[in-house]
This record gives sequence, C-alpha cells and structure tokens, in this order.
Amino acid sequence: MENKNTLIGEYLGTIEEFVPGVGTYAEEGKIYSANIGKVVVDRENHVVKVMGKMLPVLERGQVVFGEVLDIKKNAVVIIVRKIQGQRGDVDIKVGLFVSNISDGYVERPDDLFAIGDIVKGVVIKMEGSLIDISTRGPYGVVKAFCRRCRCALEKSDKVPADVLVCPCCADKEKRKIADDYGNVADL
Ligand SMILES: [Zn+2]
Repeated sequence: MENKNTLIGEYLGTIEEFVPGVGTYAEEGKIYSANIGKVVVDRENHVVKVMGKMLPVLERGQVVFGEVLDIKKNAVVIIVRKIQGQRGDVDIKVGLFVSNISDGYVERPDDLFAIGDIVKGVVIKMEGSLIDISTRGPYGVVKAFCRRCRCALEKSDKVPADVLVCPCCADKEKRKIADDYGNVADL
C-alpha cells in the first residue's frame, strides 16, 4: 500500500491499524483516502497519510454554489463548483434532502428545482464523503433555466414570489428562489 497512488475514497486500513492523518478520513472504523496522491505510513506514530495536491475541502457553514445534476424522489444531487469567498473551482458532489430545501413543507424536490439550475446553499452536515447542504431561509436557486426552452428564467412582479418567468417562451415555473436570485457574480 505504501507509496501507492490512491484515488479519493480508496480504503487504506482500519483505525485499529492506523491513526487517520492528513488527506484521509475515517468512517465506521475504516480509513479512506480523501485526496489524490501517494500513501505515506508513519510507522513510529502509526499514522497513515495521503500526500498530494490538497483539494479544497468543504466545511460546515460554508456557502457554496453548484449545479443540479440529478433530482431523486427525496433529494437533489448537486455538484458544488465554487465555495463563497474562495478562489478556484471545485468539483464536489453534495446532497440536498427534501427536508432541507425550505422552511415550509416540500413534497417533491422536482417541483422546486430543475437539472442545470445553479443553486446557492450552506453546508450543514459532513460525514466522510457524504455532504449535505441546505437551501432553507435565504438560499435557493440563483439562476434557473426554462424546462421548455432552456432560457434563463427571470423574476417578475406579475407572478407570485416563488415563480419565475421565461423571457423567451413565457413559461412560468416554480422554484425555491434565493433572496439574491440573479446575483451570480461570485461564480
Ligand atoms: Zn422558455
């Protein structure tokens, strides 16, 4: 295993064998690589590390921007592309569970999101490689695209606050809209 190149999520050993070091994470007693790089074992201290280019790691409380990749029955799958206040692009898959979408009751995630929408959310839970975000409160879509023609949807005074209008085909679509819809300067 030592000096071997790993990928993210590769099994490295158990917490009985090693202390999880830099570039690793532990889940249910097992240690996995959290980074792409070489496995290094510090035998004296029983630490296993992965040395490589450190990828940006999300933290709870961070505000992130991502693109809707998939919509399941009980969750939206989002690829985070940017962390607010940080330079550079990331590529981290996160989940937005139906219960974390809004302060109100949401029955189906696909009533309020469409594939390709740009979402602003906050990281609320980190468990190994499983990351949850929330769009409750001021968060939600900052840019959404028409389901019919893919034009960018716009806010309008003529429709309820949770509805966006397509300037191309006049389609009206519901979304969980961020307070600062249209503000994608950070992207
Ligand atoms: Zn349209």
